[in-house]
Amino acid sequence: MKNILFATSEAVPFIKTGGLADVAGALPKCFDKQYFDIRVILPKYACMKQEWKDKMEYMTHFYMDIGHKNCYVGIMHMEYEGIQFYFIDNEYYFSGPTPYSSAPWDLEKFAYFSKAVLSVLPVIGFRPDIIHCHDWQTGLVPVYLHDTFQQNQFFWGIKTIMTIHNLKFQGVYDVKTVQEITGLSDYYFAPDKLEAYKDGNFLKGGIVFADAVTTVSATYAQEIRTPFYGERLDGLLNARAQSLRGIVNGIDYDIFNPETDPCIPYHFDARTFRKEKVKNKLALQKELGLEEDPNVMMIGIISRLTDQKGFDLIAYMMDEICQGAVQIVVLGTGEERYENMFRHFDWKYHGRVSARIYYDEALSHRIYAASDAFLMPSLFEPCGLSQLMSLRYGTLPIVRETGGLKDTVEPYNEYEGTGTGFSFRNYNAHEMLNTIRYAEKIFYDNKREWNKMVDRAMAKDFSWNQSARQYEEMYNWLIG
Ligand code: ADP
Repeated sequence: MKNILFATSEAVPFIKTGGLADVAGALPKCFDKQYFDIRVILPKYACMKQEWKDKMEYMTHFYMDIGHKNCYVGIMHMEYEGIQFYFIDNEYYFSGPTPYSSAPWDLEKFAYFSKAVLSVLPVIGFRPDIIHCHDWQTGLVPVYLHDTFQQNQFFWGIKTIMTIHNLKFQGVYDVKTVQEITGLSDYYFAPDKLEAYKDGNFLKGGIVFADAVTTVSATYAQEIRTPFYGERLDGLLNARAQSLRGIVNGIDYDIFNPETDPCIPYHFDARTFRKEKVKNKLALQKELGLEEDPNVMMIGIISRLTDQKGFDLIAYMMDEICQGAVQIVVLGTGEERYENMFRHFDWKYHGRVSARIYYDEALSHRIYAASDAFLMPSLFEPCGLSQLMSLRYGTLPIVRETGGLKDTVEPYNEYEGTGTGFSFRNYNAHEMLNTIRYAEKIFYDNKREWNKMVDRAMAKDFSWNQSARQYEEMYNWLIG
């Protein structure tokens, strides 16, 4: 039996702010239980739903030194869907309305968490062969393991993996503060370790000291070795290229299933979508106050409204896009200028554009089910889950060829009759517009071809199974 510990700052269903929570919640369930004992450790946040906090059982507590502080470390436990979850309890660090606030407080919080992850292991009697760390919040786990913990025989031979879900977020602050917070010695604050451009950098520490580094798509794994996508760590990622690989994320095929999804009014599958899917469109048009027309092409957008997702291109072209024979349905929150931009277009093109500026899981499912196409022209995209959800619901993605979008959406080729969506290469508003127009043309003039594309999209398998096998392979290789 191989023991693996997932160290993460969020996991579904306990706490979620982004895609990381989906990965940390879904992936552990997909490993072969005969060979792998996968457990998960995360903070116990005050902002978690009471129903979850009520189900946690207190195991024990102790005190741990970090920096100049001596901190309480409580350990809570819960078994959920066959997986053992441990929660680090500390009301000083994990209070507040959201898991994250801002630096340097977040850095102190997750330095504490990373050190606590290691400190609790002998206490709970679980010795992992591998600690699988996710994003900058757990970047210090490999660093602390390399540091004092190595003096304890319990920790000898434990391997670490650093998975990068988004390189943009690194956990950075000035060296002096990071040194105070972490209690790490001068040795670690050199450019070949935690120091990056005169600052202390948690993620960099993780990348340097982990035995293997992964990211969430093969293309992103290549891209981050270049200055454009490398977020100033491309040099380091090139140096670690032999230990860097991309494993694409999946989605939970039980939750995202148009045959059974309780959030959508009309169920359908690969055989029935030609008749049934459109009923979801009509229902959504009614719900959102759009013109009720089964034949109009509906384009969905569900996203954080940030530059990363290509909203400057959309803002630039929105008026143009609306000149076409399309309806646009937007669900998202984020930067104010984009929220206001969509509110404006909802007003200007009332009946053809609907913008909902909030977070609504169930509505997102109805949009995936109802739309004909899904627009996602990202500037960069480590993996992206929305396009996978779209494919599953027979909604054809229109994407920019970057990161995970490039790896999961196969562009339509009208000569060969292949492809599952539409894509363009350069980060250019006109290229995006042309691609949308091309999709419209196929939708209206060649519905047979469109529907065949939907057939192919729905036949794709982006469940976790494929990716879990690749992680298993890597675990086996690392443990030897
Ligand atoms: P990222 O993690 O970079 O935000 P992903 O495409 O990987 O982007 O995942 C985003 C997830 O969040 C998708 O499941 C998407 O449906 C969901 N989502 C984003 N915004 C909203 C919203 N306002 N309401 C409901 N779901 C949303």
